[in-house]
Amino acid sequence: METPQPRRSGPPGAPGDGPGPRARERAGDPRRNPAASGAGGSAGLAGSLAPTGIVTHAACLEHYAGPGHPECPERLTAVLRALGAETEAGPPDAECPAGTVWLQAPRADLAAIEAVHSTRLAPAIQAACLGGRALLDDGDTYVCSESYTAALHAVGGTLAAVEHVLAGTWKSAFVAVRPPGHHAEESAAMGFCLFNNVAVAARALRARGVERVAIVDFDVHHGNGTQHLFERDPTIFYGSQHQYPHYPGTGAASERGLGPGEGTTLNCPLPAGSGDREWLEALEGRLLRELEQFRPQFLLISAGFDAHRQDPLSGTRVTTEGFREMSRSLVDFARSHCGGRVVSVLEGGYHLSALAASARVHVEQLLRAV
Ligand SMILES: [Zn+2]
Repeated sequence: METPQPRRSGPPGAPGDGPGPRARERAGDPRRNPAASGAGGSAGLAGSLAPTGIVTHAACLEHYAGPGHPECPERLTAVLRALGAETEAGPPDAECPAGTVWLQAPRADLAAIEAVHSTRLAPAIQAACLGGRALLDDGDTYVCSESYTAALHAVGGTLAAVEHVLAGTWKSAFVAVRPPGHHAEESAAMGFCLFNNVAVAARALRARGVERVAIVDFDVHHGNGTQHLFERDPTIFYGSQHQYPHYPGTGAASERGLGPGEGTTLNCPLPAGSGDREWLEALEGRLLRELEQFRPQFLLISAGFDAHRQDPLSGTRVTTEGFREMSRSLVDFARSHCGGRVVSVLEGGYHLSALAASARVHVEQLLRAV
């Protein structure tokens, strides 16, 4: 991985390293935003507490799964605008949250990806992308020629965020990237996901000497890929709340891990129609209580906002306020148990304005991490 350096001034995109004009026209370009360089968000931070990092890359806007596909570039544009990034679509509609610093996501090295995924996966995805539009699974995980590069930046951004929080230069981070990751299995892309961003970060944290890593996944879909990658690993706790039964079909309460990893997988399935009260109860009354016993030293969040009541891909009824409360609980937990060390990574969320508002309140809570 390239050495991540937060940018506090100047354009965050390197020439020739970003998207072509098509995506910039379609979805907006964070490179055009002075705030996206950190110049706006980091104002007044000199000599103060460590900031919250926001990590993104314009290449992530170039991954295009085809017309009408819900995992669209506009999702990321909506999130970035809600966090203060200016786009070609118009002026900022919100202030860049004070206390944030923005970083261009570097490309991940293959070695980091191969610490989690089969050595066959990246070349297979790269080859499929070189051929243009392709379907990678038996569902609707489509790629285009730019998708492989986007996926490398998604992983690299997650790794960079983890490095900064581990080093203490940031107190917390939100990684606003796509494609998402939690459905990606060891040897297969799946469910709009190419590489498992959070899983690569968890494995990297272990390699850096962090003994116990927690992953909490509140995406409305069960993170089958993350669970399978760590279900035999007692050092990485995977806790998920999700609509069940629902795609991808895994995530029953009886799935608690395998062999030496038995007990460090926890699934909190919730029925269609469940809302803020049920989701908060599952998180605070079950998941975080059990996670406390695990004594994690670092918290990773698979932050999908598709349990929102407006989301087209779920039948759950969580509100933006519900995501604020869940985020507050997670950050409180990180402060009490992980020294405030928390990195949150965007997964799903397919109603653009609901996604944007939910990501905004989520980041507002991450700012409280230490
Ligand atoms: Zn999802």
